[in-house]
Amino acid sequence: MTTFPINTIKHFETPFYYYDLDLLKATLHEMKSCIKGLPYKVHYAVKANANPRILHEIKEAGLSIDCVSGGEIVAALAAGFKGDTIAFAGVGKTDKEIALGINHDIFCFNVESVPELEVINEIAATKGKTANVALRVNPNIDAHTHKYITTGLSENKFGINLEQLDAAVDKALALPDVNFMGLHFHIGSQLLDFTPYKMLCERINELQDHFESRGIKLKIINVGGGLGIDYDNPDGNPIPDFKGYFDTFKQHLRLREGQELHFELGRAIVGQCGTLISRVLYVKNGTTKNFIIVDAGMTDLIRPALYQAHHVAQNITSAATETTQYDIVGPICESSDKFASDETLPVTRRGDLLAFRSAGAYGEVMAMQYNCRKLPSAHFSRE
Ligand SMILES: *Cc1c(COP(=O)(O)O)cnc(C)c1O
Repeated sequence: MTTFPINTIKHFETPFYYYDLDLLKATLHEMKSCIKGLPYKVHYAVKANANPRILHEIKEAGLSIDCVSGGEIVAALAAGFKGDTIAFAGVGKTDKEIALGINHDIFCFNVESVPELEVINEIAATKGKTANVALRVNPNIDAHTHKYITTGLSENKFGINLEQLDAAVDKALALPDVNFMGLHFHIGSQLLDFTPYKMLCERINELQDHFESRGIKLKIINVGGGLGIDYDNPDGNPIPDFKGYFDTFKQHLRLREGQELHFELGRAIVGQCGTLISRVLYVKNGTTKNFIIVDAGMTDLIRPALYQAHHVAQNITSAATETTQYDIVGPICESSDKFASDETLPVTRRGDLLAFRSAGAYGEVMAMQYNCRKLPSAHFSRE
């Protein structure tokens, strides 16, 4: 459970992210213990949080890495990750980004279309290299998560549709300067129900049987990420259900001899270790609502505005025993700049610190400077 060293942090300029590195460590430890002895490899999805201190901690734990842009490849290399642990995904890789990946002999490009495959082949040829590729398949599975974070339906922009997969695999096998490694999937994010993963395993089993009947072997299967965290109860469930997650694949996915199963987890690794801490600027008692106006806004944590996400809010400095219901809003000139409606909090005053929990993933990394604001800073439980 994360505790906040109030006497230290009350002097910091707000808003800021506070990272509990012991929780991050414990999370990584639990994750690794669940895959011990299995032919499983976990890539950390940098896009969830690219803070260098966080990346360092994850690199020390020995994870591989998953990037979705050239900038993320640069960040991963700067943090000490080796090129041959990088998986590189994304529907719109530029020539420059592809060249960067090839220069660093990355583990694998997760290729999202046949035209992209041709460009990778061409760029690899000019460098006299062979690029490892996996094809990202759109398995048409509904992850039943928020529509903005569902990625595995045929209407989504991601991956190659099942109908076009045979032709794409043939192309990958025929091109001289790419090395076909296998198939990649990523069906969505913040999944707490494992049924969609079970369906994904069954889809993969069918595909493997199909390709084997055609004499095509897959060296790797990459099932992406998406394991969710408990946003409602960060202290009760600080570490996600890694065991249930990996067991689903162990039970349902028929891996072949010598085959490796790769995962790309972001949120599950860093989500619970981060908190956004803000100061209460004003408490405004209206006619129908009481508002708490804090100095953090959607520019610091956009998830509530973007996905209607809810982060548990705690007043970490109030000693009041009486509670009231508040709407918690930020200072940005947008009505969507709102953290919570009717949140029950101890009676709150100007100057109190409010903590928005479970903000380690897709928080700091999505911060922006709209309204000419400063980006939030970051502090750690250990420096
Ligand atoms: C975003 C993303 C991930 C990580 O998703 P999480 O929900 O944070 O685990 C993994 N793979 C790909 C291809 C992604 O785009």
